[in-house]
Amino acid sequence: MPLSSAIAAARLSVLARIAAAAREAGRDPDDVTLVAVSKQQPDDRIEAMLATGQRIFGENRVQEAQDRWGERREGLELRLIGPLQSNKARDALALFDVIETLDRQRLAEVLADAIQRAGAAPRLYVQVNTGEEPQKAGVPPADADAFIAGCRTLGLQIEGLMCIPPEAEPAGPHFTLLADIAARNGLARLSMGMSGDFETAVRLGATSVRVGSALFGGRLAR
Ligand SMILES: *Cc1c(COP(=O)(O)O)cnc(C)c1O
Repeated sequence: MPLSSAIAAARLSVLARIAAAAREAGRDPDDVTLVAVSKQQPDDRIEAMLATGQRIFGENRVQEAQDRWGERREGLELRLIGPLQSNKARDALALFDVIETLDRQRLAEVLADAIQRAGAAPRLYVQVNTGEEPQKAGVPPADADAFIAGCRTLGLQIEGLMCIPPEAEPAGPHFTLLADIAARNGLARLSMGMSGDFETAVRLGATSVRVGSALFGGRLAR
């Protein structure tokens, strides 16, 4: 199968699985957004994905995303789904429509300041480290309410929550935990679910899923 057909077929299959999982849970499939995670993918696959009509992409590094999308940014929605260093906050604001990895006070302060200066209006998600893994970014679940309140005090509008469950555990309980934290903080959007678990995430309320390898195939080494 030529690459363009393979990518188009993979996307249709993922969209069909999202729709089926949504219906199973009594949800409207249109309420779930597919974010195509394009990090570390070669350019021919990117072009093939663009040709399918996919316009929403996720990237986990600011510089890599600038290199990949800078010249063809028009008409796309770009989401930052990887850790953001405070000193990259301005670059991230300039490139991304959505920043899903707000996870510490210092970053919240720097972003609030940069947003005001730039007159930007990014959509922001707070990342929660639902598995409390030391190596992983995100606010500990017990601190999430206070952190969200603190962001709001700074004038930041939070759209939703994001999590990356531990690889070695069933994802469902982590998705449920994230949904609970969102509900009690009045947040309607949940970014959760990747190639291996997006159907579970949709059943448990994901409003966007971040899918890479199931759409594009395996990634290149960095
Ligand atoms: C890479 C990445 C994904 C996509 O992972 P796949 O398993 O390839 O679907 C999703 N979310 C985040 C935060 C990532 O870094």
